Amino acid sequence: MTGPEGSEGPDAALPDPDRPAVPDTGGPAIPEGPVADADGPTMPGAAAADPDSPAILELRNVSAAYGPFRALFGVTISVGPGEAVALLGANGAGKTTVARVATGLVAPTSGSVVVEGEDFTGAGAFKFARAGVAHAPEGRSVFATLTVEENLSLSFRQSRGRDGVGSGLEQAFGMFPVLGERRRQLAGTLSGGEQRMLSMARVLVESPAVLVADELSLGLAPKIVDAVYESLTKLRENGSALLIVEQHVGHALDLCHRVLLLHHGAVTWEGPSHDAADRVLAELFEPAAP
Ligand code: ATP
Repeated sequence: MTGPEGSEGPDAALPDPDRPAVPDTGGPAIPEGPVADADGPTMPGAAAADPDSPAILELRNVSAAYGPFRALFGVTISVGPGEAVALLGANGAGKTTVARVATGLVAPTSGSVVVEGEDFTGAGAFKFARAGVAHAPEGRSVFATLTVEENLSLSFRQSRGRDGVGSGLEQAFGMFPVLGERRRQLAGTLSGGEQRMLSMARVLVESPAVLVADELSLGLAPKIVDAVYESLTKLRENGSALLIVEQHVGHALDLCHRVLLLHHGAVTWEGPSHDAADRVLAELFEPAAP
Protein backbone atom coordinates (compact mmCIF):
# COMPACT_ATOMS: atom_id res chain seq x y z
CA MET A 1 0.00 0.00 0.00
CA THR A 2 1.42 3.37 -0.93
CA GLY A 3 0.08 6.85 -0.48
CA PRO A 4 -0.27 9.68 -2.94
CA GLU A 5 3.47 10.28 -3.11
CA GLY A 6 3.94 6.56 -3.31
CA SER A 7 6.65 5.10 -5.33
CA GLU A 8 8.16 1.71 -4.97
CA GLY A 9 11.01 2.15 -2.55
CA PRO A 10 14.21 0.15 -2.62
CA ASP A 11 12.90 -2.05 0.13
CA ALA A 12 10.60 -4.97 -0.14
CA ALA A 13 7.06 -4.22 1.00
CA LEU A 14 5.27 -6.96 2.85
CA PRO A 15 2.33 -8.54 1.13
CA ASP A 16 -1.24 -7.67 1.95
CA PRO A 17 -3.09 -10.80 2.98
CA ASP A 18 -6.33 -8.85 2.62
CA ARG A 19 -7.35 -10.00 6.03
CA PRO A 20 -10.14 -8.37 8.05
CA ALA A 21 -9.97 -7.82 11.80
CA VAL A 22 -10.18 -11.02 13.77
CA PRO A 23 -13.62 -11.60 15.33
CA ASP A 24 -13.55 -12.30 19.05
CA THR A 25 -14.01 -16.02 18.80
CA GLY A 26 -11.21 -17.16 21.02
CA GLY A 27 -8.29 -15.99 18.95
CA PRO A 28 -6.74 -16.69 15.59
CA ALA A 29 -4.58 -19.60 14.67
CA ILE A 30 -1.14 -18.39 15.64
CA PRO A 31 1.74 -20.06 13.87
CA GLU A 32 4.02 -22.06 16.13
CA GLY A 33 7.51 -20.72 16.28
CA PRO A 34 10.28 -20.10 18.73
CA VAL A 35 10.73 -16.69 20.23
CA ALA A 36 14.46 -16.28 20.12
CA ASP A 37 16.59 -14.27 22.46
CA ALA A 38 17.90 -10.93 21.33
CA ASP A 39 21.61 -10.58 20.90
CA GLY A 40 21.97 -6.84 21.17
CA PRO A 41 23.37 -4.39 18.66
CA THR A 42 24.18 -5.67 15.22
CA MET A 43 25.26 -2.73 13.14
CA PRO A 44 28.06 -0.20 13.25
CA GLY A 45 27.18 3.04 14.97
CA ALA A 46 24.34 1.50 16.92
CA ALA A 47 23.85 2.82 20.40
CA ALA A 48 24.89 0.19 22.88
CA ALA A 49 21.65 -1.24 24.25
CA ASP A 50 22.46 -2.72 27.62
CA PRO A 51 20.45 -5.92 28.02
CA ASP A 52 20.64 -5.54 31.80
CA SER A 53 19.19 -2.05 32.02
CA PRO A 54 15.48 -1.87 32.77
CA ALA A 55 13.21 -1.46 29.79
CA ILE A 56 12.08 2.03 28.97
CA LEU A 57 8.88 0.80 27.36
CA GLU A 58 7.17 -2.55 27.82
CA LEU A 59 4.00 -4.17 26.63
CA ARG A 60 3.34 -7.16 28.87
CA ASN A 61 0.99 -9.78 27.50
CA VAL A 62 -1.18 -7.09 25.94
CA SER A 63 -4.46 -7.82 24.19
CA ALA A 64 -6.46 -5.07 22.52
CA ALA A 65 -9.73 -4.80 20.64
CA TYR A 66 -11.84 -2.43 18.60
CA GLY A 67 -15.37 -3.19 19.82
CA PRO A 68 -15.96 -6.88 19.12
CA PHE A 69 -12.81 -7.23 17.01
CA ARG A 70 -9.72 -8.39 18.82
CA ALA A 71 -6.64 -6.97 17.18
CA LEU A 72 -3.87 -8.07 19.58
CA PHE A 73 -3.44 -11.35 21.43
CA GLY A 74 -0.98 -11.41 24.33
CA VAL A 75 1.72 -9.25 22.79
CA THR A 76 4.89 -8.78 24.84
CA ILE A 77 7.46 -6.24 23.65
CA SER A 78 10.29 -4.69 25.59
CA VAL A 79 12.41 -1.76 24.43
CA GLY A 80 15.55 -0.95 26.40
CA PRO A 81 17.04 2.54 26.73
CA GLY A 82 18.80 3.41 23.49
CA GLU A 83 17.60 0.24 21.84
CA ALA A 84 16.03 0.19 18.39
CA VAL A 85 13.35 -2.44 17.87
CA ALA A 86 11.50 -3.08 14.62
CA LEU A 87 7.99 -4.48 14.55
CA LEU A 88 7.31 -5.98 11.14
CA GLY A 89 4.17 -7.55 9.76
CA ALA A 90 1.79 -7.61 6.84
CA ASN A 91 -1.24 -5.35 6.40
CA GLY A 92 -3.72 -5.82 9.20
CA ALA A 93 -1.26 -7.70 11.44
CA GLY A 94 -1.87 -5.20 14.24
CA LYS A 95 1.26 -3.04 14.01
CA THR A 96 -0.55 0.28 14.27
CA THR A 97 -2.56 -1.06 17.19
CA VAL A 98 0.69 -1.89 18.99
CA ALA A 99 1.90 1.67 18.32
CA ARG A 100 -1.36 3.07 19.68
CA VAL A 101 -1.24 0.92 22.82
CA ALA A 102 2.43 1.81 23.35
CA THR A 103 1.60 5.54 23.32
CA GLY A 104 -1.63 5.50 25.30
CA LEU A 105 -4.02 6.04 22.39
CA VAL A 106 -5.65 2.64 22.82
CA ALA A 107 -6.04 1.03 26.24
CA PRO A 108 -5.36 -2.71 26.37
CA THR A 109 -8.24 -5.04 27.22
CA SER A 110 -5.78 -7.11 29.25
CA GLY A 111 -2.10 -7.03 30.05
CA SER A 112 -0.14 -3.96 30.97
CA VAL A 113 1.95 -1.13 29.55
CA VAL A 114 4.95 -0.10 31.60
CA VAL A 115 7.09 3.00 31.10
CA GLU A 116 10.42 3.04 32.93
CA GLY A 117 9.09 0.58 35.46
CA GLU A 118 5.87 2.49 36.13
CA ASP A 119 2.49 0.99 35.24
CA PHE A 120 0.91 3.25 32.60
CA THR A 121 -1.93 0.88 31.69
CA GLY A 122 -5.03 2.95 30.94
CA ALA A 123 -3.18 6.28 31.23
CA GLY A 124 -3.91 8.92 28.59
CA ALA A 125 -1.64 9.76 25.67
CA PHE A 126 -0.70 13.02 27.39
CA LYS A 127 0.87 11.12 30.29
CA PHE A 128 2.90 8.97 27.90
CA ALA A 129 4.10 12.09 26.08
CA ARG A 130 5.11 13.73 29.35
CA ALA A 131 7.13 10.64 30.23
CA GLY A 132 9.11 10.99 26.99
CA VAL A 133 7.19 8.48 24.86
CA ALA A 134 6.75 10.22 21.50
CA HIS A 135 4.46 9.01 18.75
CA ALA A 136 5.03 9.61 15.06
CA PRO A 137 1.73 8.37 13.71
CA GLU A 138 0.95 6.94 10.31
CA GLY A 139 -0.23 9.73 8.01
CA ARG A 140 0.09 13.47 8.40
CA SER A 141 -0.72 15.67 11.33
CA VAL A 142 -0.20 19.32 10.49
CA PHE A 143 -2.20 22.51 10.86
CA ALA A 144 -3.15 23.19 7.26
CA THR A 145 -3.83 26.91 7.67
CA LEU A 146 -0.53 27.67 9.39
CA THR A 147 2.79 28.01 7.59
CA VAL A 148 5.55 25.44 7.90
CA GLU A 149 7.42 27.69 10.31
CA GLU A 150 4.31 28.38 12.39
CA ASN A 151 3.57 24.67 12.69
CA LEU A 152 7.07 23.98 13.93
CA SER A 153 7.26 27.04 16.17
CA LEU A 154 4.00 26.14 17.88
CA SER A 155 5.25 22.69 18.63
CA PHE A 156 8.71 23.78 19.81
CA ARG A 157 7.29 26.55 21.97
CA GLN A 158 5.22 23.98 23.83
CA SER A 159 8.04 21.51 24.26
CA ARG A 160 11.09 23.76 24.68
CA GLY A 161 9.74 27.17 25.62
CA ARG A 162 10.07 30.38 23.65
CA ASP A 163 13.88 30.39 23.82
CA GLY A 164 14.12 26.94 22.25
CA VAL A 165 12.14 27.76 19.11
CA GLY A 166 15.09 29.10 17.08
CA SER A 167 17.33 26.10 17.68
CA GLY A 168 14.40 23.76 17.03
CA LEU A 169 13.75 25.38 13.67
CA GLU A 170 17.42 25.21 12.79
CA GLN A 171 17.51 21.48 13.54
CA ALA A 172 14.30 20.79 11.64
CA PHE A 173 15.46 22.67 8.54
CA GLY A 174 18.85 20.96 8.77
CA MET A 175 17.10 17.61 8.80
CA PHE A 176 14.71 18.42 5.98
CA PRO A 177 16.09 21.34 3.90
CA VAL A 178 12.93 21.43 1.76
CA LEU A 179 11.00 22.56 4.84
CA GLY A 180 13.41 25.49 5.20
CA GLU A 181 12.86 26.42 1.56
CA ARG A 182 9.12 26.33 2.15
CA ARG A 183 9.02 27.81 5.63
CA ARG A 184 6.51 30.52 4.66
CA GLN A 185 4.20 28.21 2.71
CA LEU A 186 0.87 27.11 4.22
CA ALA A 187 1.22 23.52 5.40
CA GLY A 188 -2.05 22.58 3.69
CA THR A 189 -0.52 23.41 0.30
CA LEU A 190 2.56 21.20 0.77
CA SER A 191 2.75 17.94 -1.10
CA GLY A 192 1.79 14.81 0.80
CA GLY A 193 5.44 13.85 1.26
CA GLU A 194 6.35 17.32 2.51
CA GLN A 195 3.50 17.21 5.01
CA ARG A 196 4.84 13.90 6.30
CA MET A 197 8.28 15.49 6.69
CA LEU A 198 6.75 18.40 8.59
CA SER A 199 4.84 16.17 10.98
CA MET A 200 7.95 14.04 11.52
CA ALA A 201 10.34 16.97 11.97
CA ARG A 202 8.37 18.04 15.05
CA VAL A 203 8.90 14.68 16.72
CA LEU A 204 12.42 13.94 15.52
CA VAL A 205 13.81 17.23 16.80
CA GLU A 206 12.54 16.53 20.31
CA SER A 207 15.00 13.67 21.02
CA PRO A 208 12.40 11.73 23.02
CA ALA A 209 13.34 8.96 25.46
CA VAL A 210 11.56 6.60 23.11
CA LEU A 211 10.00 7.22 19.72
CA VAL A 212 7.20 4.98 18.51
CA ALA A 213 7.21 5.49 14.75
CA ASP A 214 4.37 4.08 12.70
CA GLU A 215 5.01 3.45 8.98
CA LEU A 216 7.23 6.48 8.55
CA SER A 217 8.14 5.50 5.01
CA LEU A 218 4.57 5.04 3.86
CA GLY A 219 3.83 7.13 0.80
CA LEU A 220 7.26 8.76 0.65
CA ALA A 221 9.62 8.77 -2.30
CA PRO A 222 12.78 6.67 -1.78
CA LYS A 223 14.98 9.77 -1.39
CA ILE A 224 12.78 11.09 1.39
CA VAL A 225 12.65 7.69 3.06
CA ASP A 226 16.45 7.75 3.12
CA ALA A 227 16.38 11.19 4.76
CA VAL A 228 13.87 9.98 7.34
CA TYR A 229 15.97 6.96 8.20
CA GLU A 230 19.09 9.11 8.44
CA SER A 231 17.33 11.22 11.07
CA LEU A 232 16.21 8.08 12.90
CA THR A 233 19.81 6.83 12.92
CA LYS A 234 20.94 10.14 14.41
CA LEU A 235 18.17 9.93 16.99
CA ARG A 236 19.30 6.42 17.91
CA GLU A 237 22.94 7.49 18.11
CA ASN A 238 21.91 10.33 20.43
CA GLY A 239 20.41 7.80 22.81
CA SER A 240 16.69 7.74 21.99
CA ALA A 241 15.12 4.30 22.00
CA LEU A 242 13.05 3.43 18.95
CA LEU A 243 10.09 1.19 18.28
CA ILE A 244 9.78 1.21 14.50
CA VAL A 245 6.62 -0.16 12.97
CA GLU A 246 7.22 -0.84 9.30
CA GLN A 247 6.14 -2.65 6.21
CA HIS A 248 9.31 -1.71 4.37
CA VAL A 249 11.78 -4.18 5.70
CA GLY A 250 15.24 -3.17 4.47
CA HIS A 251 15.62 0.17 6.23
CA ALA A 252 14.13 -1.17 9.45
CA LEU A 253 16.55 -4.10 9.55
CA ASP A 254 19.50 -1.78 8.98
CA LEU A 255 18.41 0.60 11.71
CA CYS A 256 17.28 -1.74 14.43
CA HIS A 257 19.04 -4.06 16.85
CA ARG A 258 16.15 -6.42 17.26
CA VAL A 259 13.10 -7.45 15.26
CA LEU A 260 9.69 -8.81 16.17
CA LEU A 261 7.36 -10.32 13.64
CA LEU A 262 3.66 -9.79 14.18
CA HIS A 263 1.15 -12.10 12.56
CA HIS A 264 -2.61 -11.93 13.11
CA GLY A 265 -2.16 -9.86 16.27
CA ALA A 266 0.49 -12.04 17.91
CA VAL A 267 4.28 -12.04 18.01
CA THR A 268 5.49 -15.10 16.13
CA TRP A 269 9.23 -14.49 16.18
CA GLU A 270 11.71 -12.27 17.91
CA GLY A 271 15.44 -12.07 17.36
CA PRO A 272 18.44 -10.01 16.31
CA SER A 273 18.03 -8.16 13.05
CA HIS A 274 20.83 -10.07 11.32
CA ASP A 275 18.75 -13.24 11.71
CA ALA A 276 15.50 -11.61 10.69
CA ALA A 277 15.79 -11.49 6.92
CA ASP A 278 15.28 -15.23 6.46
CA ARG A 279 12.40 -15.22 8.94
CA VAL A 280 10.73 -12.35 7.16
CA LEU A 281 10.93 -14.27 3.91
CA ALA A 282 9.76 -17.50 5.49
CA GLU A 283 6.89 -16.12 7.55
CA LEU A 284 5.67 -13.09 5.67
CA PHE A 285 6.24 -13.78 2.03
CA GLU A 286 4.06 -16.80 1.53
CA PRO A 287 4.52 -18.59 -1.77
CA ALA A 288 2.00 -17.50 -4.36
CA ALA A 289 -0.85 -19.92 -4.97
CA PRO A 290 -0.46 -21.91 -8.23
P1 ATP B 1 -1.49 -1.81 8.05
O1 ATP B 1 -0.08 -2.25 7.79
O2 ATP B 1 -2.40 -2.16 6.96
O3 ATP B 1 -1.59 -0.39 8.52
P2 ATP B 1 -1.53 -2.89 10.75
O4 ATP B 1 -0.61 -4.07 10.89
O5 ATP B 1 -1.01 -1.59 11.23
O6 ATP B 1 -2.03 -2.77 9.26
P3 ATP B 1 -3.80 -2.39 12.43
O7 ATP B 1 -4.08 -1.07 11.80
O8 ATP B 1 -3.25 -2.39 13.81
O9 ATP B 1 -2.88 -3.29 11.49
O10 ATP B 1 -5.15 -3.23 12.40
C1 ATP B 1 -5.26 -4.51 13.01
C2 ATP B 1 -6.70 -4.98 12.81
O11 ATP B 1 -7.58 -4.15 13.56
C3 ATP B 1 -7.11 -4.87 11.35
O12 ATP B 1 -7.82 -6.04 11.00
C4 ATP B 1 -8.01 -3.64 11.29
O13 ATP B 1 -9.05 -3.81 10.35
C5 ATP B 1 -8.55 -3.55 12.70
N1 ATP B 1 -8.74 -2.17 13.11
C6 ATP B 1 -7.80 -1.21 13.15
N2 ATP B 1 -8.30 -0.04 13.59
C7 ATP B 1 -9.61 -0.26 13.80
C8 ATP B 1 -10.70 0.55 14.24
N3 ATP B 1 -10.53 1.83 14.58
N4 ATP B 1 -11.93 -0.05 14.32
C9 ATP B 1 -12.11 -1.35 14.00
N5 ATP B 1 -11.12 -2.17 13.60
C10 ATP B 1 -9.89 -1.65 13.49
